[in-house]
Amino acid sequence: MKITNIKGMEDLLPERMLRWKEGLEKIENLALSYGYLPIKTPILQRIELFKRVLGEASDIVNKEMYSLTDKGGRELVLKPEETASVARMFNEHNLSFRGLPQRYYYFSSYYRQEKPQKGRLREFHQFGIESIGSSSPFMDVEVITLYYEIIKLFDIDVKIRINSLGCKKCRPLYRKELEIYLRDRKDDLCDDCKRRLETNPLRVLDCKNEKCIRVTADAPKSEDFLCDDCRKHHEAVLESLDELNIPYVKDPKLVRGLDYYNRTIFEGESSKLGAQSAVGGGGRYDYLMEQLEWKPMPAVGFAIGMERLMMASGKEETSLPPIDLFIAAIGKDSIIKGMDLARELRKKGFSVFMDLSDRSLKSQMKQANKKDARFVIIIGDTEISENKVIIKDMANGSQKDIDMDVETISKEMSV
Ligand code: AMP
Repeated sequence: MKITNIKGMEDLLPERMLRWKEGLEKIENLALSYGYLPIKTPILQRIELFKRVLGEASDIVNKEMYSLTDKGGRELVLKPEETASVARMFNEHNLSFRGLPQRYYYFSSYYRQEKPQKGRLREFHQFGIESIGSSSPFMDVEVITLYYEIIKLFDIDVKIRINSLGCKKCRPLYRKELEIYLRDRKDDLCDDCKRRLETNPLRVLDCKNEKCIRVTADAPKSEDFLCDDCRKHHEAVLESLDELNIPYVKDPKLVRGLDYYNRTIFEGESSKLGAQSAVGGGGRYDYLMEQLEWKPMPAVGFAIGMERLMMASGKEETSLPPIDLFIAAIGKDSIIKGMDLARELRKKGFSVFMDLSDRSLKSQMKQANKKDARFVIIIGDTEISENKVIIKDMANGSQKDIDMDVETISKEMSV
């Protein structure tokens, strides 16, 4: 039996990788200009990290993590998300001593054993940021602004939805009210939500089932239960976004799949994506450090799914770049000479391609055409003995003999 790829995981061919590369370069430069710095944590992390941060009852921990036991008997998982690992890294390296807030960005692959469908993969990629150490609402605003600017880089029409989940003080009151409301209407909920009602009633608000949407239409809103501090925080975020002309809509039914959030949460939604419409989202996670038994530390961040971002941009692939020069060399001595020239010309910034299988000139010219080469240089025994090369301009077909010398060749290609 032929071995094929794993379900829900994608091979990324050059056309997509090059598109990602150009996209990522723009995103990273923008993040750097806001003062966010790159970090990377290992793909394997201890299972405990996610059990503590996401909770044993969460969908991710319960059924979606890829786990393994290493030779030392340690239980490890392929990271399902980044925030928990960044929190661990931040504390393990005492990064608060570098001054607060600390701003980081990351790009990596993540793993969740969900049911694969369009826009939902088992290996996917996220670009994300984390700002650690500030509880100011303006920090939420900066994070949402950066999210908005990234989306704008790709000309995507995204609706940003915002909600506040409150804090330790006021959230339990809301949760209780919501639970009472939902219990009264339990029979009208889908089977999943009947279960969610027991584990995490807030997630019922998120359900896409028609029945549940009808039930939750008049459900209590978290906004109405916010304590004074949370209300002030929420108002400051929304007012600042208004003043900065960052478009958003308030969505009292917004909750996030990851349960560590408090106060501000947001999500971007594109109409181009179908059922899995979220292009990214994030929020505050002021209690996460405590959950890991580190010193309490407020923080806020977001993650954008790279596959969905590219899909929403309407351009998932880019055409392969043409090459500057194809060196067609015939015979061993010519190939070596060609490789030597190619090495020097690449140092001057030209992209140079050679066929190294010593094929006929005709088949090498065919390849040069396929590669969309701007110029071809032909080297054979005669050219070596005369220290000349034939250079052909592929745009107009003209060709001439020039000295076999890097300066002369690069001059010829630069006109
Ligand atoms: P989350 O980490 O669940 O908050 O997700 C943040 C973003 O990552 C989402 O808005 C999606 O764009 C993307 N994402 C999450 N899960 C998947 C998945 N299984 N496949 C593809 N993209 C995903």
